[in-house]
Amino acid sequence: MALTVYNTMNRRKEPFEPLDPPNVSIYVCGPTVYGHSHVGHAKSYISFDVIVRWLRTRYNVRYVQNITDVGHLTDDADEGEDKIVEEARRRGLHPMAVAELFTRSYLEDMDTLGVRRADIMPRASGHIPGQIELIKRLIETGHAYEVNGSVYFAVSTDRGYGKLSGRVLDEVQAGARVAIVNEKRDPRDFALWKAASPEHIMQWPSPWGMGFPGWHLECSAMAMKYLGETLDIHGGGLENQFPHHECEIAQSESATGVPFVRYWLHNHMITVGGEKMGKSKGNFILLKDILHPDWPVHAFLGRKYDPLVLRAYILNSHYRSDLDFSVEGLDAAEAGLRRLHTAVRLLRQAVEKAGEGEEHGIDLAAVEEAFTAAMDDDFNTPQAVAVLFDLARQSNTVVESGRRVSRAALDGVDGLFRRLGGGVLGLIPDQLKSEGGGLENGLLQLLVELRQTARKERNFALADAVRDKLAAAGVILEDRPDGTTWRIEG
Ligand SMILES: [Zn+2]
Repeated sequence: MALTVYNTMNRRKEPFEPLDPPNVSIYVCGPTVYGHSHVGHAKSYISFDVIVRWLRTRYNVRYVQNITDVGHLTDDADEGEDKIVEEARRRGLHPMAVAELFTRSYLEDMDTLGVRRADIMPRASGHIPGQIELIKRLIETGHAYEVNGSVYFAVSTDRGYGKLSGRVLDEVQAGARVAIVNEKRDPRDFALWKAASPEHIMQWPSPWGMGFPGWHLECSAMAMKYLGETLDIHGGGLENQFPHHECEIAQSESATGVPFVRYWLHNHMITVGGEKMGKSKGNFILLKDILHPDWPVHAFLGRKYDPLVLRAYILNSHYRSDLDFSVEGLDAAEAGLRRLHTAVRLLRQAVEKAGEGEEHGIDLAAVEEAFTAAMDDDFNTPQAVAVLFDLARQSNTVVESGRRVSRAALDGVDGLFRRLGGGVLGLIPDQLKSEGGGLENGLLQLLVELRQTARKERNFALADAVRDKLAAAGVILEDRPDGTTWRIEG
């Protein structure tokens, strides 16, 4: 059994062989922090969260994800304004205050979604000296040139340019743009360092005068600082393949002379209602629209959703599939997740009550093997989720049979739910909501027992009233041969 991953560079699935096993290095482009995160961010970072969680079951992983807080311009052709500076002016804030505000917002959303934080989360503005060093190296080796305090990468010096995306800058487009940035020797060249005008707030001293780094260069410098000159995996959204990742490869490999990345992994995108998400279209959905109880209800959604529902929805499709975001899809994910959680809750209630007994008869090894085969096949999470549902069906059958199954055996089933459904996919919390910790659990148990007493005393009116009142509050009681269980609806 071996892990295979789809390598965008070669456009095929390949066996995954890290450079220095059992160590694995992975870099994923982080957000540019000039606004709240949207559903597209959730798809990207939940996908890589699960990829990293799966890698960690076998390897020592070092996961680096940057925060871009300077240098990401509104225009790919090195013109336009820094996205953060633009937002800062709109809000009347310092750019670093904007970066801090949206870094916190991003982390809050990701924590809510159960996305584990990367091992290292470097900020671009904190790594200026390393970026300057990399630019110096490129100038010394003849791959970059300085003009008027800006430094550009000379694409003509890199024979491999275009190998990731299969693209080079369109000649017509380039012709139009060269008129704008006429200091470039070749329209395909891109900025490594930009000279800053005196009023520009985000600027640092460099050998070429005051300025700020280019976005592409930041990622190369931070990735190589923490992971070395060759990374095992570089991840990111498909929209960053060109020009961002193409430029990362060009400048890194030109500086070091060794391959920058062994495996390129790209997640596909989210559309909303069949259309590209756009602020003007009314289909722009922020994570806080879905998750945050204090934010107004978004017209497209009509209500709020549990973070795990969004997580399940995203993992129900493959990371390399496009996902058309819809309320129907969310609702279906919610219903599925509820079935899964109900099965786990009933199982855990059965564990509590069980003692000595027989085996359950579920082939746990086969379940784990099927799950592993799915995840080893380029992180096929929809297939892995299906394996969990199958386990849930088998678990329900055992719990509902009324057989006396031993506590240890039932515990084994729960252990697999925790490890695969919780540890790897992050869909089954250790403490399910309606297990409710001590108090809620205790109170519900008390009501169940009072109702049983009422039935024993043939006070069926009271027993039914307890059941109906609980049902109205969303707690469903189920009388089984071995006693009464409860579950919370919705
Ligand atoms: Zn990047």
